[in-house]
Amino acid sequence: ASLISEAIAKKGTKEPAKPTILRPNGTAPYDYLVVGAGFAGSVLAERLAAVGKRVFLCDRRPHIAGNAFDVRNEAGILIHKYGPHIFHTNSEEIFAYLSRFTRWRPYEHRVLADVAGKLLPIPINRTSLNGLYELDLKDDAKAAVFLAGRAEPVADIRTSRDVVVSQVGTHLYRTFFEGYTRKQWGLDPSALDKSVTARIPTRTSDDDRYFLDTYQAMPADGYTRLFENMVDHKNIRIETGVDHRDVENEQLARRTIFTGPIDAYFDHRFGPLPYRSLEFRHETLDCQQFQSVAVVNYPSEDVPYTRVTEYKHLTGQTHAQTSISYEFAKADGEPYYPVPRPENQALYKRYEALARAQDDVIFVGRLGTYKYYNMDQVVGQALATFRRLEKAEATAAHN
Ligand code: FAD
Ligand code: UDP
Repeated sequence: ASLISEAIAKKGTKEPAKPTILRPNGTAPYDYLVVGAGFAGSVLAERLAAVGKRVFLCDRRPHIAGNAFDVRNEAGILIHKYGPHIFHTNSEEIFAYLSRFTRWRPYEHRVLADVAGKLLPIPINRTSLNGLYELDLKDDAKAAVFLAGRAEPVADIRTSRDVVVSQVGTHLYRTFFEGYTRKQWGLDPSALDKSVTARIPTRTSDDDRYFLDTYQAMPADGYTRLFENMVDHKNIRIETGVDHRDVENEQLARRTIFTGPIDAYFDHRFGPLPYRSLEFRHETLDCQQFQSVAVVNYPSEDVPYTRVTEYKHLTGQTHAQTSISYEFAKADGEPYYPVPRPENQALYKRYEALARAQDDVIFVGRLGTYKYYNMDQVVGQALATFRRLEKAEATAAHN
C-alpha cells in the first residue's frame, strides 16, 4: 500500500519519482503492470490473473471501463459518459467470453439522420431513398436500379469520399456524409481513408438496423458492472486515478501492457499522432422520451454537433425523466479516435517499430495500436495478445 500511496502523493509535486527499491530477493511484486482499464487492459488483466499472474492495473481516470464507462447521473438515469456504446460482434468466441461477466439485454441499434427537414434511416436504405426523393421504390431490385443510376464510378477507391460517391452518387453523399464527416474529423472525406465511411454500408432493403452482426446486445447491468465483474480477482490490484508516469519508475513488474496512446509512451519522439477528441454535453429533460430512436445524426454543417443520443433507448430503463447527450468533435483533448489517413499510418509505423524493438512492453487497444477498433475488435485483439504471451512463455520454459 505504501508504495502506491507514495506514488499517488508524488503526483502534482515536482519531485521525480524515486527509482525503486527492488524487493529484497530482487523480484518485482507483480508479473504485469497493465496501463489502462478499458477493454484492452481489463481483458488482459483478467486473462493473466486467471493463469496465476499477479497484475497491477492502473488507469489515470477516476474509474475503470475506459470509454465504455457508464454511470447513473444525478437523476438516477444510466448514461454513457463518453458517448453511446452499442455492443455488436460476429464472433461467437468474443460474445461467449464477455458473457462470463454479464447478462445481456437484447438490443438492435437504429439511427435516423436529420436531413432535408426529415428524419431518415442511416445507413441509407430503401426507406431513406423513398423519403428523401418522395419515391415509391417497392423492392430491393427497384432501389438497386435507382442507386445504379446515381452511382458515379471511381476507378481507384481510396478515400472516404470515393467509397460513398461510387455507391450512391454526389447528392446522397452530400446529404448524409459530407457535412457529418467534416464535423467529426475536421477533414474533408476526400482526405480520409475509405475505411472510415465504409463502416456505413448502403442497402437496397428496408432493413434499418445500424449493425447486422449476429450478436447485438447491451450488458444488462451496464458496462461498468461488466468490468467490475471482469477484474474482480485476487491477483488483480486496481488503482484508478494513477497515471503510468506515477508508477513507471517503481519497478512494479517486469512487463508492461500499455493501452494508452503509443506516441505518448515514447514522449512523442517523432511528433504527435493526431487523435480526434469529443466534447459531450449531457442534459436531463423533464419528459419521458426526447426522440424516437437512441441516436439521431445531424449531417448539416449548420448544426454544431454530430449526433444526439438518448440513453434510455439503449438501457431500457424506465424513468419519468430522460437523459441525452450532444457530441461536439474537436482536435484537442482526451484522445478518442485515431485518424485513419496515410500520413498518420506512416507515423504510427515509426512508433510501432520502436515498440517492436523492446519485448518488456506490449501495446494493445485502440490508442496503443492506433486502430479505429470497435469494442469487440479490441477484446479480440486482447485475447489474441494473451494467447501469444502464453505461447512465448511455454516456448521459453521448454528451452
Ligand atoms: P480505452 O477504452 O480508451 O481505454 C484506455 C484507457 O487507458 C483509458 O481509460 C485511459 O484513461 C487509460 N490511459 C491512457 N493513458 C494512460 C496513462 N498514461 N496512464 C494510465 N492510464 C492511461 N465501440 C463499439 O463496439 N460500439 C460502439 O457503439 C462504440 N461507440 C463509441 C462511441 C464513442 C464516442 C467512442 C469514442 C468510441 C466508441 N466505440 C464503440 C469504441 C470503443 O470505445 C473502443 O473500441 C474501446 O473502448 C477501446 O478500448 P481500449 O481499452 O482500447 O481503450
Ligand atoms: N458518417 C457520416 N454520416 C452519418 C454516419 C456516419 O458521414 O450519418 C461517417 C462519418 O465519417 C463517421 C463514419 O461514417 O465518422 C463512421 O460512423 P460511425 O457511426 O461508425 O462512427 P462512430 O460511432 O465510431 O463515431
